[in-house]
Amino acid sequence: MSILVYIEHAEGSVKKTSLEAVSFGKALADKTSGGEVIALALGSISDEALAIAGTAGASKVMHVADGNLDAGVIQAHADAVAQVYKQVGANTLVLSKSSLGDAVAARLAVKLDAGLVSNVVDLPDTTGGYKVKRSIYTGKAFAETTVNKDHKILAVKKNAVDLLTNGPEATVEKVSLSIADENFAAKITSTDKAEGEILLPEADVVVSGGRGMKGPENWGMIEELAKELGAATGCSKPVSDIGWRPHHEHVGQTGVKVAPTLYLAVGISGAIQHLAGVNSSKYIVVINKDPEAPFFKAADYGIVGDAFEVLPKLIEAVKAI
Ligand code: FAD
Repeated sequence: MSILVYIEHAEGSVKKTSLEAVSFGKALADKTSGGEVIALALGSISDEALAIAGTAGASKVMHVADGNLDAGVIQAHADAVAQVYKQVGANTLVLSKSSLGDAVAARLAVKLDAGLVSNVVDLPDTTGGYKVKRSIYTGKAFAETTVNKDHKILAVKKNAVDLLTNGPEATVEKVSLSIADENFAAKITSTDKAEGEILLPEADVVVSGGRGMKGPENWGMIEELAKELGAATGCSKPVSDIGWRPHHEHVGQTGVKVAPTLYLAVGISGAIQHLAGVNSSKYIVVINKDPEAPFFKAADYGIVGDAFEVLPKLIEAVKAI
């Protein structure tokens, strides 16, 4: 029996979240004597880019290089993954929790008659059953789910597992599949991406500003710091409501949910609705002049100070690195 890991890629590289899923698969195989960890990629991407899955723990990568799969049509991806899953004789599918991952996983649970757990934060406890810990209520609590099916699908939450980086590069094996036309019934004909912008939901670093920034004229500092850090910019809800920033930057319960490695919050109080969108971040750094600001309770590092004094110094320090 082997573990198949469905990996996503964008702009020619395997996504970091998918590499985390591979590392999760490897740790699961080591824990349960689960056999080989095989990564599966669909669509156009180079062998060199795929080989990195080996460093995260995959023994090989299977690649269905069919350009029709580039658009990420969910039914077609689910069909392809199900075919390869059966071909390799896997009993567990691991993938990262994402909008595509969720949609594919739900269809696969039906196709493979598998038990699906999403938002997984830890390896399953296999003593006397198959219990999986998952994050619920936007990270505020955990639930334990018991899977009773022979086949398991685990969608791993971003930043929940340590990424392995020390394995040897994987060999890439091309796989040719026949995917029925009916799976391509829905087609994405074009997608738009703003030139040069780092997309907020995907960003590894986010610099976010709140009402403490006083006005849109002061956002130059947020943007400059974000540029130096290769970060996306975000904001609190009132900031986008007043029109200081565009709505697509609004982070929180009613806005974008982010899960970067670093979330830097400047002049944001840390209301529960804002925290609901950021508590999957690996590290949270807060700059606020009020030492009692609730955000400090959720922060890994905090600077009590005036943003207008701290930000220029921070930008200078980052530029000096
Ligand atoms: P404020 O609460 O006004 O805080 C400003 C902060 O800046 C303060 O902590 C202050 O100490 C600090 N500050 C001021 N001057 C400086 C300075 N010079 N230097 C450093 N710090 C300074 N909010 C969201 O963000 N996202 C959501 O998705 C969201 N959804 C909501 C849904 C509902 C149903 C409701 C009721 C509310 C929602 N809110 C949401 C609003 C939320 O409750 C807060 O009102 C909002 O997050 C506060 O934004 P803020 O921190 O920018 O502003």
